[in-house]
Amino acid sequence: MRIGIIGAGHAGIEAAMAARNAGAEVALFSAEPVLPYFRPRLVGVAMGITAPEAIAFHPAAWYQDRGIDLHMGAPVTALDVAARTVIANGGTERFDAMVLACGATPRMAPVCCTTPGSPIFTLWSMADALQIRQRVRPGARLVMIGGSSLGVESALTACGQQVQVTIVEGLPRLFPQLLGSGAAVFLRQQLESRAIVVRTGHAVASLAPHGDGVRVELAGGAICEAELAMICIGARSNLELAQQAGLATAQGVCTDDCLQAAEGVFVAGDVCQAAGRLPRGAVREAMAQGRMAGANAVAFATGGQLQAFVPMQSPMTLRAAGVEIVAIGQASGLVEERLPDGAAGTYRAVTRHTDGSLAGVQMIGTREGFDELAAQIGGLRVCRT
Ligand SMILES: Cc1cc2nc3c(=O)[nH]c(=O)nc-3n(C[C@H](O)[C@H](O)[C@H](O)COP(=O)(O)OP(=O)(O)OC[C@H]3O[C@@H](n4cnc5c(N)ncnc54)[C@H](O)[C@@H]3O)c2cc1C
Repeated sequence: MRIGIIGAGHAGIEAAMAARNAGAEVALFSAEPVLPYFRPRLVGVAMGITAPEAIAFHPAAWYQDRGIDLHMGAPVTALDVAARTVIANGGTERFDAMVLACGATPRMAPVCCTTPGSPIFTLWSMADALQIRQRVRPGARLVMIGGSSLGVESALTACGQQVQVTIVEGLPRLFPQLLGSGAAVFLRQQLESRAIVVRTGHAVASLAPHGDGVRVELAGGAICEAELAMICIGARSNLELAQQAGLATAQGVCTDDCLQAAEGVFVAGDVCQAAGRLPRGAVREAMAQGRMAGANAVAFATGGQLQAFVPMQSPMTLRAAGVEIVAIGQASGLVEERLPDGAAGTYRAVTRHTDGSLAGVQMIGTREGFDELAAQIGGLRVCRT
């Protein structure tokens, strides 16, 4: 029995392990030319703190020892769902079942006018991180477009490297989905106390290379010049391969409860829209789906029973330059209720629906009581951190 897995990120690796442990032969196709790695740690690589090789999941021998046939730098260019074949590296391979785990691609600002080699970056792959790393040095100025988790984490990490950071966020506050208004103000103070300039409520009118650096014009006319800019405004699922293969897509590739998109084709991670639920963009969910998709691929190939995936939500946690944030649930458009603080420099809050039920929990500088509160949010299977 042969299982083919497209994408060797968090979901793909877990799928490979699950299929291998169930006795399948596994071929794992990775578009990237490097050993599969822990994607969130790209921030440390980009900012020159972490060596690129330190973030690999496993050394090359690990795959060999387990008989996982890892094809690096081998993007799958075509998928035939009915025949269950893929084309990669110019060759065609057939499988008994497949897992599509090809992740997401960062969004680019529509006003961005960039040219090859210009210092305007997104941060999603090892190649992105290595390019940013070449530009990061003490005293350099960095404009961060986007004030959500990746932008704030990258800004804090850069600031720890003596980079002068300006965060530009189009919405009126930082982390608008996850932090209530008070928590966002508290976070802003934490960033400003570390000399990070925060400009919320400022849309970017234009972003373009300028000399050796970049020039950002904000709506209203203010100008920021810097040695580099990063665009951290979210990501979209990689749907092209699935669409070309005729699979149904919406924001992700549509699957049933068992993560199956077509007979013998399972989907996991950032590319997966399971039973109508939008892709979450979170490591723990990608891993859990990967494990389930790998196990279900083997079950399909051996005539076994498919298992349904039970959605979960893991808290967003961020730790950088002495700032720690943990949040879960919804905050956007809801009333925030501040809880009594413990130590100085901490902030604890919850958000509630209009019927008074708990919608979200947000903490900065502490996580006292977080798990207990998160467990009270209705309809969430919370994965503890
Ligand atoms: C810098 C950064 C920080 C993050 N921090 C956090 C965090 O703190 N917490 C958290 O929960 N989440 C975080 N995320 C999000 C998290 O990394 C993703 O949700 C997770 O990686 C999704 O796993 P995945 O396996 O679905 O996709 P990915 O990890 O993106 O892996 C998909 C792989 O498939 C490959 N691929 C694409 N197309 C093809 C093809 N045609 N053929 C072969 N291979 C292909 C891609 O190149 C990629 O290597 C972060 C993301 C980034 C970029």
